[in-house]
Amino acid sequence: MQSLVTQRCLTVQAEETRALGARLGRRARVGDIVACRGALGAGKTTFVQGFAEGLEVGSENYVRSPTFALVHAYHGRTPLYHFDFYRLSSCTEVQDIGFEEYLDAGGVVIIEWADKFPTILPAVRLEVFIRMADPAGRWLQWMAYEASYSRYFLLAD
Ligand code: ADP
Ligand code: MG
Repeated sequence: MQSLVTQRCLTVQAEETRALGARLGRRARVGDIVACRGALGAGKTTFVQGFAEGLEVGSENYVRSPTFALVHAYHGRTPLYHFDFYRLSSCTEVQDIGFEEYLDAGGVVIIEWADKFPTILPAVRLEVFIRMADPAGRWLQWMAYEASYSRYFLLAD
């Protein structure tokens, strides 16, 4: 039986969320799935921007929510496929944009609003949960089963 590992961090500014995203992105490997959840404005896209930077996506490829394109592909040290399920209303729609093919496309998949369609997410994944902190800032919590994603925890740098 694997055990769930979890870590969390308070970020006061968007720049810190981006920096944490970059630290995690540096640990990403081909085949990783990163499922982000949190309310509108929590900082999911901000986190993804940092994660992309950690994957060495060039700053000329500015990361924004793929609201209209549905998926954005970025080229860093590995490809990064960025989904946002916000405007999708069914699992069928997610399948229609080729979600399952992207999971095996030789890159890293990161998803905003991943909790909208839990049944289509692979069980083996990194979960990132962002919520507003009181009185300011954000709590970022990331979780996984240690065997496959342990490199995302106990960050030394
Ligand atoms: P989401 O994708 O979850 O809807 P965004 O990343 O697009 O959220 O927006 C988050 C907004 O909150 C940005 O305007 C950002 O500047 C602001 N913000 C303020 N503090 C933080 C923080 N600590 N972490 C992330 N975003 C923050
Ligand atoms: Mg967003």
